[in-house]
Amino acid sequence: ANERYLSVRVSRIGDDLYALLVVDVSERRHFEEMRRNFTTNVAHELKTPTGAIALLAETITDAADDPDAVRYFSGRVSKESARLTELVRRLIDLQKMQDAGRTLEPKRLSALAVARAAIDANRVQAGQRHIDIVLSFGGTVLGAEPTEGEPDAWIECDESAIVTAVKNLVENAIHYSPERTTVRVVVDEDGDDVRIRVIDQGIGIPESAIGHIFERFYRVDPARSRQTGGSGLGLAITKHCVEDCGGTISVWSHESEGSTFTIELPAVAGDPATAQTTQPAQ
Ligand code: ADP
Repeated sequence: ANERYLSVRVSRIGDDLYALLVVDVSERRHFEEMRRNFTTNVAHELKTPTGAIALLAETITDAADDPDAVRYFSGRVSKESARLTELVRRLIDLQKMQDAGRTLEPKRLSALAVARAAIDANRVQAGQRHIDIVLSFGGTVLGAEPTEGEPDAWIECDESAIVTAVKNLVENAIHYSPERTTVRVVVDEDGDDVRIRVIDQGIGIPESAIGHIFERFYRVDPARSRQTGGSGLGLAITKHCVEDCGGTISVWSHESEGSTFTIELPAVAGDPATAQTTQPAQ
């Protein structure tokens, strides 16, 4: 990581006089390499489902006389095309995040409204897996709807960015947990910071993988993740969103015990009169 790349040019500027121009091009090289890797990864990720769909279509044609086989392989086509749609959705999200001209619209937001919007966006998936999502502020468990006078914490953020971040964490917590477990979303204030934690009782992350999970396209278990439809982009997008809001994200995890993702954002003074009603991000 500390290697530097130098471009060196020698020009003769007189009979016995030479000029040496040394330019540090490390950053440009690093950027180009990242772009090349990214394109290779995208191409690879797109090739997998499209190749599978082409093969499955052929199989369906060959099995036209067997309705059970047709039904089975058509189901597989649907799954693969859902994966493709998900990947494209994630790529568009990532592209939006990295758009240099993107304008963030920071505004004062209730941390609980953000958490509720992220939970609401995941209700259907949680229901399908019989997973309970419990929201709390500090030690107090709260309902799905805000109640008057409940405690809250305030942040200043681009609404879409922070809701996307928390929504992705809740989505992963559901995705990587066994059925009939609980996902906790805990909001609290710690000194000058507001903390939003997403805690699951899922499969956890091996120690060797923890340092990589925020990288684009990184998946702990590509085979498993492929089956369940992961793109490896969710956490890269999440980190981007949190940093766009001036915050940090960290993770604690133990295999087969579960994971805790923590977002920390600077707290701002609360003013209930300007409370925002936050809708789930699309
Ligand atoms: P994916 O689309 O594969 O979920 P992410 O970028 O969201 O991609 O996550 C990267 C990898 O980190 C996942 O493939 C998974 O192995 C691991 N991971 C993320 N969140 C969790 C979690 N809550 N529990 C266990 N593993 C997780």
